[in-house]
Amino acid sequence: MTYSYVTELYCPKCGSTYSTDEQINLCTCGSPLLVSYDYDSIKASLTKEELAKREPTLWRYHELLPVKNPENVISFGEGMTPLIEMKSLSEEYGISRVYMKDEGLIPTGSFKARGSAVGVSKAKELHIKEIAMPTNGNAGAAWSLYAAKAGIKSHIVMPLDAPLITRKEVEISGANLYLVDGVISDAGKIVARSVKENGWFDVSTLKEPYRIEGKKTMGFEIAEQFQWELPDVIVYPTGGGVGLIGIYKAFKELMDLGWVKKDKFPRLVATQAADCAPIVKAFEEGKTESEFWHHSKTAAFGINVPKALGDFLVLDAIYKTNGCAVAIDDETLLAEQKLIAQKEGAFICPEGAATFATVRILREKNWIKANETVVCLNTGMGIKYPETVEVNATFVDKETTISLAK
Ligand SMILES: *Cc1c(COP(=O)(O)O)cnc(C)c1O
Ligand SMILES: [Zn+2]
Repeated sequence: MTYSYVTELYCPKCGSTYSTDEQINLCTCGSPLLVSYDYDSIKASLTKEELAKREPTLWRYHELLPVKNPENVISFGEGMTPLIEMKSLSEEYGISRVYMKDEGLIPTGSFKARGSAVGVSKAKELHIKEIAMPTNGNAGAAWSLYAAKAGIKSHIVMPLDAPLITRKEVEISGANLYLVDGVISDAGKIVARSVKENGWFDVSTLKEPYRIEGKKTMGFEIAEQFQWELPDVIVYPTGGGVGLIGIYKAFKELMDLGWVKKDKFPRLVATQAADCAPIVKAFEEGKTESEFWHHSKTAAFGINVPKALGDFLVLDAIYKTNGCAVAIDDETLLAEQKLIAQKEGAFICPEGAATFATVRILREKNWIKANETVVCLNTGMGIKYPETVEVNATFVDKETTISLAK
């Protein structure tokens, strides 16, 4: 039995192709590379019924993942996260069906585990011994822990003000952690210089071709969880945009396999923070690439990315699916985060909360219709960001009887 039907890496800009058996980062033209598969053979050998019997992890889609030998798979059982109907929010927004795909319930507490599961497994297959990456926290946490399981050494560079817990996740994994007083782009430059000096493999967002393959499994799962009928709208908190590019790629692959209706894509929506919205700006100006966003800042740390390497792919996915891009300010997303906890009992991350705030706005503008089905990606656990919640408790002494009536 063939475990993976991976064929090659290809460049979406110039069309060059590369082997998936070599350690490769970008195309010689500077573009990120994407992975392709032998879809005809997959179609001939795998059925939806067969798939339905498999274990509930992202490895259930192994034919469409790049790891060739199952012995190289590094897994903590990640994937097949719940798709939860948010009934109170549906009512609140005036939309028939609003769902949350809850990526908080995944190892390391954020959906970065998907990218690292597949990326680290492939790194092991390619005999990579040391990796380096810039991160806003969650990716560093996920990659360093998965790398530890794979016996790969990691070097992680993160901004000083990234969520404290992610720093600790990296620390306990035994990785080398470097903190920089700057943003992720500054960390990226340090990594780019250091990999050259030390011969490490650069696993920065989209400089490494396999992370996106892990993230695309969110698209497969959404399709499978909706019985292969795709929803109308999917809202994604966009930093580097890997998840959005991945979900779009997943739907194209499912169309190639004939498993979902051809050319009926969900409208893909990129949510960004108001003080870091390069994709939104480019979208509003009808451009195909974004510009560097200076002095970016947001409590939704995972989407503080001033310039994404794959911005042209994110914008392409938005345009091709008739989607859009929306910026949400911190006050609004934090208010939504609180409301969601109170109405739905879900303590989600600020990035995830921003997608719900986006849905509210898009419904108000009638961009989302009342009878549509919407999926928001909650990309991480709220408890990774304790500083977003202010506590208004009353301190009491031991003899106190609480009496609300005055
Ligand atoms: C990294 C991250 C994002 C953004 O992911 P991209 O795919 O890089 O756009 C969103 N939310 C959280 C919690 C993250 O850690
Ligand atoms: Zn190229």
